[in-house]
Amino acid sequence: MTNPLQILHDVFGFSSFREGQEEIVRAVLAGEDVLAVMPTGAGKSLCYQLPTLVRNGLTVVVSPLIALMRDQVEALRHFGVEAGSLNSANDQAENRRVTDSIRDGRMRLLYASPERLANTGATEWLARAGVNLLAIDEAHCVSQWGHDFRPEYALLGEVRRRLGGVQTIALTATADVATRGDIMHRLFESEPRIFIHGFDRPNLRLAMQAKEHSRRQLFSFLDKHRHESGIVYCSSRDATEKLSDSLNQAGYRALPYHAGMPQGDRAKNQDIFLQEDGVVMVATVAFGMGIDKPDVRFVAHAALPKSIEAYYQEIGRAGRDGAPADTLTLYGLDDMRLRRMQIEDSDAPDEQKRVERQRLNALVALCEAPRCRRQTLLAYFGETTEPCGNCDLCIDGVMSFDGTIEAQKLLSA
Ligand code: ADP
Ligand code: MG
Ligand code: ZN
Repeated sequence: MTNPLQILHDVFGFSSFREGQEEIVRAVLAGEDVLAVMPTGAGKSLCYQLPTLVRNGLTVVVSPLIALMRDQVEALRHFGVEAGSLNSANDQAENRRVTDSIRDGRMRLLYASPERLANTGATEWLARAGVNLLAIDEAHCVSQWGHDFRPEYALLGEVRRRLGGVQTIALTATADVATRGDIMHRLFESEPRIFIHGFDRPNLRLAMQAKEHSRRQLFSFLDKHRHESGIVYCSSRDATEKLSDSLNQAGYRALPYHAGMPQGDRAKNQDIFLQEDGVVMVATVAFGMGIDKPDVRFVAHAALPKSIEAYYQEIGRAGRDGAPADTLTLYGLDDMRLRRMQIEDSDAPDEQKRVERQRLNALVALCEAPRCRRQTLLAYFGETTEPCGNCDLCIDGVMSFDGTIEAQKLLSA
């Protein structure tokens, strides 16, 4: 067997593994089924591409988007690796080229849409050609609790069986417990090895406060960040307009952003935020997808985010350059109670209510964490760490501590 590090250098031109990659590569090479959870950009593709090249044979990669497949196939061919894709956008010549290459045993990485694989004929043909590894990218698409459910993904457990129960690696950036559970029981017969890596963003300072004088709390946070670029997330369109007005009156350069604004105004505000320094974007969650501004120095939530995943995504837009960045989340106890009632009163099936309840509880637990926020946050994603020294609880201790003593004094008086 060729040395993985050698191939990392010689084929991909990388000098070393990134955090998490080597362990996963070794587990795949040892023949284990794997579920790998790593954030976007962490380098998940290498975790199945490299083992494929270390061993012999064909890896089938399931990917939900044709554009993603094309990029990957192009990148692999650029590295001199025989790769191709089967999807509805191929012309006949390309299809022939791909099938010939598989038949000759030259093809190493075949990208296929789940629809294609759900076709029994195609899977049986592949089974006869011999598949060594099934890699399921964006595996959270199997979960109906996620934002990205794709019914075709639900058939992949069956595809795996038709491929003779082939060794499988599932990869995703979405790590919440319910989604992970779905991935495991829909794609695997027995529990795979699970690897969760790279969710920590140590340069982000984390802080959460129960709303008391929410405006004062928010303004005192923003006052520490005058002339810096940042985002304030609000829970409604109306709130973004009002807050951005008051911030402008208070001498900030603030702009609103929400889905109800005319497309032109939205695009204009986004451009200003990206191009100028020191602009505060006051936005609903409609803002931020695909925004890559490295020097966002703060993110504030004027209200409780929707979920821990949403919180993590939204604060993650700060400090992409690796320099220190500050975050503050204000939460209302009433909002939590309201959310809980909405869940109980909805017509959703019990199973979904259970998941929603679990998610809300996790969020509440993070807001009311007794110890290091980062430990609580990362534990939710399945990662363990030491107390971080860069969150409100590590720095100031537990806020309600004095209150507890006061209460005890009162009770014992
Ligand atoms: P993910 O799927 O986790 O979002 P990708 O697999 O698309 O991430 O990889 C993101 C980028 O990181 C790619 O440009 C890839 O070439 C690069 N990359 C992956 N592993 C390494 C490594 N060990 N060293 C340097 N760059 C890497
Ligand atoms: Mg990827
Ligand atoms: Zn901490």
